[in-house]
Amino acid sequence: MAFSLNKSATAFKEAKQYIPGGVNSPVRSFRGVGGTPPFIAKASGSRVYDIDGNEYIDYVGSWGPMILGHAHPEVTAELREAIERGTSYGAPTLIETELARLITEVVPSIELVRFVNSGTEATMSVLRLARAYTKRNKIVKFAGCYHGHHDSLLVKAGSGATTLGVPDSPGVPEAIASNTLTVDYNDAEGLSHLFAKQGEEIAAVIIEPVPGNMGLVLPKPGYLEKVRAITEHYGALLIFDEVMSGFRVAFGGAQEVYNISPDLTCLGKVIGGGLPVGAYGGRKDIMELIAPAGPVYQAGTLSGNPLAMTAGLATLRLLAHTDGFYEKITANTSALCAGMRAKAKECGFNFRFHQAGSLFGLFFNEQAVYDYNSAKRSDVTAFNIYFHAMLEQGIYFAPSQFEAAFMSGAHTQEDIEATIAASGNAFKKVA
Ligand code: PLP
Repeated sequence: MAFSLNKSATAFKEAKQYIPGGVNSPVRSFRGVGGTPPFIAKASGSRVYDIDGNEYIDYVGSWGPMILGHAHPEVTAELREAIERGTSYGAPTLIETELARLITEVVPSIELVRFVNSGTEATMSVLRLARAYTKRNKIVKFAGCYHGHHDSLLVKAGSGATTLGVPDSPGVPEAIASNTLTVDYNDAEGLSHLFAKQGEEIAAVIIEPVPGNMGLVLPKPGYLEKVRAITEHYGALLIFDEVMSGFRVAFGGAQEVYNISPDLTCLGKVIGGGLPVGAYGGRKDIMELIAPAGPVYQAGTLSGNPLAMTAGLATLRLLAHTDGFYEKITANTSALCAGMRAKAKECGFNFRFHQAGSLFGLFFNEQAVYDYNSAKRSDVTAFNIYFHAMLEQGIYFAPSQFEAAFMSGAHTQEDIEATIAASGNAFKKVA
């Protein structure tokens, strides 16, 4: 049967009548790559299925949370039981403490943790806390990093903001944006100069230690250590935004891999097992400023709700108790990247493949990619051709050159081989 998205096209048209752009998060609209987004009907293991009857091997994984694959039977069973006990109480539960304890055990820099409902909420709240703790106003972020959609951090933002060409969104007041200073990722000297000029005013540096929102970019050796040293020297807090990398690049996140202890950490995605969760945590002396322990106000009607906590706890326990889980998905990701790279080479392309555990990315770029500007020099037109060629062969990657890809524990050797073979065909179309 020829590949068709006719039903999805009709559904998309109808959705646009009621929802801006037809979607509830911009990059889902395929604005960057063009064409119709498949409307998804269901998902299981490594697969998603659309309303047209197409089946895809999925490397989006809901943009990161589905590290065990979709509808994992044990997570689903626990959720079913939890739903019978009621969906939300707005009162403390045992399971919140259990998930918090597990996180503090796995990530030693986190002594106390507060749950919220999204990564955006986590980074928004953590900045208020950092400002209150240091009694300073300015924060530093890195061009091309994405930390969610609140005003302070929609400045030179990656992810969908870059894909849609609005890294600095209209509607963000100048008064707020002017407190956000930006530097290039991997440029320790640039950060050092900025601190030499304005160090006394800087409350915090927020960084994706392994940025996954301008495509996947890796830290140069020693870079994160320098960022840690500079912040420490000036009394600014170091915030690792591990919403994407946490429990993904390793069980203990990027801070485990690079052996850096940030003051504060933001989490999301994997820790919610596919339900809406975010979290921020870190040093006890800082976290104790949060209400009601301290005066810094932050709250949430559905924060720590029992369904999200159940899915998160079930996911993290499975990750902890499955022997060699991270070794296996990392090896599978390496095998996939090696196979795809070989196919690209057969077509004469020396494209850049990056990998951090089960997170990976392919830049249509033959030069080194180490920051926002070098990422933006990638051949987006070539990516778009490749993307559609893959989709038509049943392989679902994120619809943008400036997004990472996610391997799950449910992907099989057959999935990997099929993806490599499809890549061979897709690179031929690019050539
Ligand atoms: N931080 C990082 C590193 C992210 O990748 C994202 C989302 O992709 C966020 C924060 C925002 O999380 P959410 O979309 O849950 O608000």
